[in-house]
Amino acid sequence: MTYFKFALIMALSILIAGCSPEPARSTATLSQQPTNTPTMAATSIPTAVLAASATPIVRSSATALQLAVFSPTPPATQTPLPSPTTQGDVSAAASLTLAPSPTVPAVIDTYWLSRPISRSDDPDRIDYIDRTYPYGGTQFSTREVHLGVEFVNKRFTPILAAAEGIVLFAGSDDEIQVGPVRNYYGNVIVVQHQFLGVDEAVFTVYGHLQDVLVETGQTLSRGERIGRVGDTGIAVGPHLHFEVRVEDGLDYRRTRNPALWIAPFPQTGTLAGRLVVERTTAENEAETGENQSSEIEQTEVADPEVGRTILVRNEDFTWETYTYGSDRVNSSALWNENFVMPDLPVGEYEVIVSNENGRNLFRSTVEIRNGGTTFINVDVTQ
Ligand SMILES: [Zn+2]
Repeated sequence: MTYFKFALIMALSILIAGCSPEPARSTATLSQQPTNTPTMAATSIPTAVLAASATPIVRSSATALQLAVFSPTPPATQTPLPSPTTQGDVSAAASLTLAPSPTVPAVIDTYWLSRPISRSDDPDRIDYIDRTYPYGGTQFSTREVHLGVEFVNKRFTPILAAAEGIVLFAGSDDEIQVGPVRNYYGNVIVVQHQFLGVDEAVFTVYGHLQDVLVETGQTLSRGERIGRVGDTGIAVGPHLHFEVRVEDGLDYRRTRNPALWIAPFPQTGTLAGRLVVERTTAENEAETGENQSSEIEQTEVADPEVGRTILVRNEDFTWETYTYGSDRVNSSALWNENFVMPDLPVGEYEVIVSNENGRNLFRSTVEIRNGGTTFINVDVTQ
């Protein structure tokens, strides 16, 4: 596709996405847009829907019209859940150059990574993110809050570089601290990526490896085999623990939700949102001595709530996800989300939040678009 065709499609997609209707029901604000916090100003444009064969790319701000030259290979084309998958040909992809339109300031999604597990030569491998212990999850407070995602696979399953980059560290983390303590990830690889047009460095972390097949300082291409699945470090059974970090690849406090970085399977998209709970509280403002009137006021307080279950359903399936289990879990600067549900087949869904008695506190519909992110504000009053 020529650049001009691509830019035209992108611009049209933005216009089309901008026409998305508001939901008919509920008090929720549903949009394809992030929330209106000041830091989000540059992102208040719908995400363009990009062709599945192209890596959706690169934010820009109104002041930054730099070319976003995208690193060589787009993520491998992979299959939607739950149908069988084949991995696309990553090697065929050429460099992709995008220039944001001067009048359309942003494309938001950061789906720059391929899956670190490929089913291309073994359909039994799991190349999707485990839904039971997502980023920010605690498995109902039974586990430490999760700063990555799991690809649950058999021991010795090959692990692939999620994008081209340079190995920042490869080896056992009893030599160097990569997590909260040493010997946490066991055999671990940290890869540094630089996406042109993006200021900050992005890192991917691969933990609990059986063995490491690369060395610190080595240059990697996307999809290159870097190690094999194991259970070294603190791990319950063999699996790949995968993280995305920004700015500092050795600082576990810099993680982001990998589900907003790994390109969705074809014909799927991502739901991201922010759930806040409005509580009515009584406040006594007469504590300062001067005012002894003991005036009681009702104040609305909106809190992002941790560990809340969110149901996402269509006529065939119901999925569950959970709001981030701690304020130590970082949201994306672009979305300010506190929950994400990846790889939903394209279509319409209900988003439901209930109380413990099963009464719906929130219910709205969302449209999941191919290859993009749909954002929803979930405002719950209790
Ligand atoms: Zn993990």
